[in-house]
Amino acid sequence: MEWIVVDGHQDIAMALLEDEGWDFAAPASEAHALSLADAKSGRVVLIFGTVFATAGYWGDATPAESAERQMGCYEDLLARHAADLFRVESRGDLKLCQPGGPIGLLHLMEGADPIRSPRDLRRWARRGVRVVGPAWNTGNRYCGGWDDARSLTADGRRLIAEMREHRVLPDVSHLKPEAFDAVLACDDGLVVASHSNAHAVHRHRRNLTDDQIRAVGERDGLVGIVLYNPFLGEGDVTINTVLDHIEHMVGLVGAEHVGLGSDLDGGFTPAEAPRGIDSVGDLRLLGEGLAGRGLDGEAIGKILGGNWMRVLQRTLPE
Ligand SMILES: [Zn+2]
Repeated sequence: MEWIVVDGHQDIAMALLEDEGWDFAAPASEAHALSLADAKSGRVVLIFGTVFATAGYWGDATPAESAERQMGCYEDLLARHAADLFRVESRGDLKLCQPGGPIGLLHLMEGADPIRSPRDLRRWARRGVRVVGPAWNTGNRYCGGWDDARSLTADGRRLIAEMREHRVLPDVSHLKPEAFDAVLACDDGLVVASHSNAHAVHRHRRNLTDDQIRAVGERDGLVGIVLYNPFLGEGDVTINTVLDHIEHMVGLVGAEHVGLGSDLDGGFTPAEAPRGIDSVGDLRLLGEGLAGRGLDGEAIGKILGGNWMRVLQRTLPE
């Protein structure tokens, strides 16, 4: 069976800025698992390209300046690969995400630091940012990080309200438990965890507890499996380790609420991704692995791409 693949988390702009010699169109290499060529051959139809501009990460630049620079990277990329890549902002755009066609690029802001005020969210939404995580590991005016006392702030709650008004999805990956709960307490809308694994399979603080995974599922959202070995397991991390996380989540919430947010190239090389996955084109191998574990084709299709499509159909503007 031929599935489509949606990858809900890729730090493309960050990789472009950190390695100026990198060619996104070239086949995957030891340095980069991300590759337009491999995405095409691997039936990847949609990739979330992050704007990762948390305060302090990019030297003296303000988060808003860093975010502008990254949006500029995406503009260049879209212009350079106009036949192969297009920006996805609406439900109509989703229909164009088909194997053999151009690959969709949807913007996810990882850490809301560049958003100057809750009302400023609408400006980013107009520019195509359709998913926002209130905070990365470090906190900001909207949400505390892992190591500070604050949770979601009053401005954070206003930001979530603005996101709902402008059809932008909240991303609860990277939030500490108190902030995760606070985002869900804002309303009863759909939330996603774009790149998070199961804590019950591997005890890492970035991974979600069973209760958190259930909470995302109850909102009709999804959890995207992240393919960074420290979040997956210890020792020899393989495709099987990834399947363990997926299988655990499917057992908790069903195949409708699990997806992929690989983060391949998120500041790490293919050597730190599971053995057997060397490029974004290899994500489809997870489908074969899941079939080997007894999942049917329909469930596998949802996990590899169908669930992200459903969530976006429900969220994006017409
Ligand atoms: Zn991340």
